[in-house]
Amino acid sequence: MDLNIPAEYQELQRNLTEFVDRELRPLEESELDRNRDDVPVELRDRIRRRSAELGFYAADFPEDLGGSGLPQLGMVLLREAAARTGCRLAAFTTYGPEGPTGLLLNGTDEQKKTYLMPLISAEKSMCFCLTEPDAGSDAQSIRTTATQDGDEWVINGTKHFITNGKHADFALVFAANDREKKAQGGITAFIIEKGTPGFSVGKPQVGMVEGEGQFELIFDNVRVSEEQILGGPTQVGMGFYAAMQFLAMGRLSIASMCNGIADYCLSLGIDYARERVAFDRPIGKNQYVQGHIVESHIELKASKLMTYECAWKYDQGDPVIQESSIVKYYSSEMVNRVVDRMIQVHGGMGWMRELPLERIYRLVRIFTLVEGTSEIQKYIIAKTLGL
Ligand SMILES: Cc1cc2nc3c(=O)[nH]c(=O)nc-3n(C[C@H](O)[C@H](O)[C@H](O)COP(=O)(O)OP(=O)(O)OC[C@H]3O[C@@H](n4cnc5c(N)ncnc54)[C@H](O)[C@@H]3O)c2cc1C
Repeated sequence: MDLNIPAEYQELQRNLTEFVDRELRPLEESELDRNRDDVPVELRDRIRRRSAELGFYAADFPEDLGGSGLPQLGMVLLREAAARTGCRLAAFTTYGPEGPTGLLLNGTDEQKKTYLMPLISAEKSMCFCLTEPDAGSDAQSIRTTATQDGDEWVINGTKHFITNGKHADFALVFAANDREKKAQGGITAFIIEKGTPGFSVGKPQVGMVEGEGQFELIFDNVRVSEEQILGGPTQVGMGFYAAMQFLAMGRLSIASMCNGIADYCLSLGIDYARERVAFDRPIGKNQYVQGHIVESHIELKASKLMTYECAWKYDQGDPVIQESSIVKYYSSEMVNRVVDRMIQVHGGMGWMRELPLERIYRLVRIFTLVEGTSEIQKYIIAKTLGL
């Protein structure tokens, strides 16, 4: 692996940072209440569309579908640069669970045109519906059922913790066509549009970060045609397999955000340690304070290098099952440690809403839970080691 970051990716990072400084920071000042976490949905959508126009939002999708064909290494660096700005609105410059999922690349040509392309241009949004009240980590055990009835399928079940569940134009829903078979042919992915009879939004599920949070979604005798099966009627039972193909993209995306956020918080800690004086000298002259900063610097460096290596391997077409779990596990645990230490470096100020650290502290807690918990990543890594 060449450890130099290619000049074109560095330029992309600079361009994104300039976009954030030029257009998003003023909006952050004028539109957001610094004492509250939530960002209005209309504002998020506006930023996504603008970022898509500028070619950042879903740059890793193929050019013929509206992306830029950017390799994952470039996308990782782009996401990292966005998070490193520390601007809250920069989080919407690249896609998340509301945006295009690589899974839709398995769709039919018609599905790509109708569903994937408007996601890439951020004109539409979706939600990814796998988790259920009784099946999270053990996703193969989902209880939502898909029953064939002539040319149609009938979907019944409840999903929960669904990001963007209320606003999505359509849902990508995983349902069991055969509960016995589980991952081996028993799970099918359906595209279900908002407004389809029987499909409704249930209760909101608000978490540590204020805002609309996640949603329960209810499917009560929802009838869809076989054309709504992801990839078409031949793909019955292939939903779980399809989802597994794109796990690395999701895990790399989390890792790059964790790296960028840790970088930003570390820079706040270093600045503060240089400026804040106690016992007649900057606090950064004390070895205990240096320890917080140096340990964070080392862990962040390790995390970035592992993330770049994984993205690079992915771009070569190599399998990255172990690597993507390692980077997701390490980066998400690392960012929690780094933010915690940087609060410590700031003393009482670290806890105050005047600084962004307390909000980030709550925000990063999610990263060890989504896209496979830390325990599940370790379980996967153990399996790759033959255990
Ligand atoms: C903010 C947020 C957004 C989310 N967005 C979405 C979304 O858009 N779409 C979606 O489908 N889901 C979403 N989720 C769901 C998320 O993916 C799950 O919460 C996650 O997979 C864990 O499942 P669970 O909550 O049911 O925990 P459980 O699976 O019940 O796990 C509980 C604990 O047991 C541990 N555990 C379970 N099995 C094992 C094992 N074999 N070995 C070791 N430890 C184990 C877990 O690591 C965890 O610590 C979201 C969740 C949150 C909190």
